[in-house]
Amino acid sequence: MIQTWEIGEAKITKVTEMEQIWPGFAVIPKATPEAMLEHEWTLGPFADPATGRIRLSFHAFCIEIGDEKIVVDTCAGNDKHRPNFEALGGLDTDFMDRMIEAGFGPDDVTAVVCTHLHVDHVGWNTHLVGDDWVPSFPKARYLFGEKEWAHWRVEPQVYGDVVGDSIQPCIDAGLAELVQSDMRLNDAVWLEPTPGHTPGHHSVRISSNGADAVITGDLCHHPIQFQLPEWSSEPDVDKPAATATRRQFAERYCDDHTLILGTHFGGPSCGLLRPIEGSWWLDPAGFADTVDE
Ligand SMILES: [Zn+2]
Repeated sequence: MIQTWEIGEAKITKVTEMEQIWPGFAVIPKATPEAMLEHEWTLGPFADPATGRIRLSFHAFCIEIGDEKIVVDTCAGNDKHRPNFEALGGLDTDFMDRMIEAGFGPDDVTAVVCTHLHVDHVGWNTHLVGDDWVPSFPKARYLFGEKEWAHWRVEPQVYGDVVGDSIQPCIDAGLAELVQSDMRLNDAVWLEPTPGHTPGHHSVRISSNGADAVITGDLCHHPIQFQLPEWSSEPDVDKPAATATRRQFAERYCDDHTLILGTHFGGPSCGLLRPIEGSWWLDPAGFADTVDE
């Protein structure tokens, strides 16, 4: 099943590369199974009620509005060599077939947005043709954060040559644009800076005809981090900044109507922020029964 949402004139489709049940502490050290089982609202939609392990999904959010088809984050990709991150290396999924089925095939996409340049957000930027990594969406402009690129182009790479196989080929093909984290793509879609997880991380806002949504990126990996913003994700580059960003984000969007679309949230992958004991929880509202199994 392909999950979709209508936000005014915009249609958003989730195309999944993979969803798994993970021990939460592999990503969020404090999210042990025992700790997760104490947070009942997460059990079912966002965590496995039997084991307290979390649902973790890798998916692209694809936005269609007017003549534009925008892909937000391109997952891990096929055939990539990823030493030190086996779960994301050497994949052979049918993600691109699902993209084509959703109407976001190689020649359909007009823009690719990477919320940040981590290995699991840039993979399908390219695919292997012979021995060469070639842009998967040759008619798209690839929007990379200027600040984000300034960081990663000099940072030592620990998960293989992510820059060389997933970013540089788009630059070499003349498809890349370095953008500010508050860039507007059109009247309905724009970026919002949400730094901390990485220095130039941004989220993606969608607003049309009074309806609102926001794609988190990795400002959090699991909705438990709205209730406990101080539960850092292991890969957060600046943990205090990431915690502050989660708080600000939850305060801003705890408004009874902005749909939160979580880039790594499994199950319904979405919900509305609601207050709970001085912080926030994510109510999957009417979306809990849209879970992919
Ligand atoms: Zn990620």
